[in-house]
Amino acid sequence: MKPPSINHIKKENSKLKNSDLIINISKLSEGIHNYHLNTKSINLELDERFNDNVDLNVVLDKTASQILLKTEIDTNGNFECDRCLTTFSQHIHTSYTLMYLYQTQEFDIENEIQIINKDTVYIDLAEDVRQYILLAIPIKLLCKEDCKGLCPICGKNLNEGRCDCIIDAIDPRWEALSKLIRNKNK
Ligand SMILES: [Zn+2]
Ligand SMILES: [Zn+2]
Repeated sequence: MKPPSINHIKKENSKLKNSDLIINISKLSEGIHNYHLNTKSINLELDERFNDNVDLNVVLDKTASQILLKTEIDTNGNFECDRCLTTFSQHIHTSYTLMYLYQTQEFDIENEIQIINKDTVYIDLAEDVRQYILLAIPIKLLCKEDCKGLCPICGKNLNEGRCDCIIDAIDPRWEALSKLIRNKNK
């Protein structure tokens, strides 16, 4: 699945400070170059759900007029299950492709292209990596696919066993109600 488009026409300077995700391209020869980069999620100013390392496998393909970057990103997040509200760890994998185009004049193009010039020394991946990780968080967060959720009556986590309430089946529509109950009981 392709992530929603991010407008990559932007300033070369990352908003993030002290990025570990910088590649020096000033003396890069033409051809394929591989990098393994990593940083702590805190350096990417991700939210508190992320506290693991972020690993990148980067491939740069340089020609005279452009550098094509392909990167695979791996990290872990701690999320709250939508059904039972327990926290679970989930691996987040995402990837993106970005073209760095050597141009003296900026022109208007959408999509994953960033303008650089012959004097560009560094490319910093941090801000892009941050955005792609956030886009990779699943919309539906479940601790496991068959999570039984909370009893809508007593709020018990039904993954830990049944309760004495009389319910025929947990209807997904109960989720919102059971969350309310659970929050009240907190
Ligand atoms: Zn759950
Ligand atoms: Zn119950």
